[in-house]
Amino acid sequence: MNVSIVKCNDYSTMKNAIKQSLDLIGGLGRIIKPNDRVLLKVNLLMAKKPEQAVTTHPSVVKAIIQLVKEKDGIPFVGDSAGGAGLTDKAFEVSCIKKVAEEENAELLNFERTGTYRIKGLNIAKPLLDSDVIISLPKLKTHTFTFFTGAVKNFFGGIPGKQKSELHSKYPKLNDFSNMILDIYSAVKPKLGIMDGVLGMEGDGPSNGEVVKSNVILSSFDCVSLDYVSSALIGYNPMGIATTRLAYERKLGETESIEIVGEKIENVKIDFRKPVSEDAKENVVPFVDKEKCAQCLTCVSICPVNAINIINDDITFNRTKCIRCYCCSELCPEGAIRLVKV
Ligand code: SF4
Ligand code: SF4
Repeated sequence: MNVSIVKCNDYSTMKNAIKQSLDLIGGLGRIIKPNDRVLLKVNLLMAKKPEQAVTTHPSVVKAIIQLVKEKDGIPFVGDSAGGAGLTDKAFEVSCIKKVAEEENAELLNFERTGTYRIKGLNIAKPLLDSDVIISLPKLKTHTFTFFTGAVKNFFGGIPGKQKSELHSKYPKLNDFSNMILDIYSAVKPKLGIMDGVLGMEGDGPSNGEVVKSNVILSSFDCVSLDYVSSALIGYNPMGIATTRLAYERKLGETESIEIVGEKIENVKIDFRKPVSEDAKENVVPFVDKEKCAQCLTCVSICPVNAINIINDDITFNRTKCIRCYCCSELCPEGAIRLVKV
């Protein structure tokens, strides 16, 4: 399976970079026929601006909408953010709504599109009703899964609060990753394009530091794309649970990958890894009281009700806490840090 790497250090040249990256693997024409409904599954997560490198950059979304239209496909843009009722604001703040409107592409909030129940999971209908699904992840580390890529991106297919319920049901990384792969194998995406122009290192997917990683990667196999993307930022690719388990379940290619375009050694950049990477059981959330705006998002998002307000302070029940780090990930103020104890 081919994975293309193209250097790109500026979002203003995005369409050329993505076109080049797709041409290297055979072009969009391989997967899109006229009038196909093409769903662009962005990485929305939460309401963050494009330059904060949490969400798929709007220039990437705009470029792909235009390229889909050039193949006479009908593009849609869809996702659900991390918590309940947060998706509309996230579409707006990330500027994905703006580019979708400019390009007349329908925006699908998975919190309102309804779901199909597959393998005990409620998966947003558009992910199963579209002719072509394209995953548009952001190149980031992740405190719980260590790397968030084209496969993990489909967790957004589970609307709103149900995501945190799944964290509670599958607290162990391998079980959680197998659940992600159940979604992935139901959705069957045909293409993944990694937005790695601005990436995120450290305590991603939302509390890390922005890195200018200057790459776009594409593959018709999202598992291959994750394999190469995680290697590019300094991981052992088979150390990423979704990739290793996808290999075991024969859901994608990890052995016969050919990199086309730029050589990986020319663009490799070792991202700083999350604090939780070594000893997760010893890494716990802490609130920076100065930053906390008492919005209570963390209280509502915690899948095991381990967060309470005592004497006006956010407090954690360390016994109940399952170290999913959803509170830290979705705190809009970045007020919850992860620390080793
Ligand atoms: S989500 Fe963040 S800002 Fe909101 S209450 Fe919790 S710690 Fe404070
Ligand atoms: S306190 Fe935070 S890390 Fe612990 S279970 Fe709740 S959301 Fe997850």
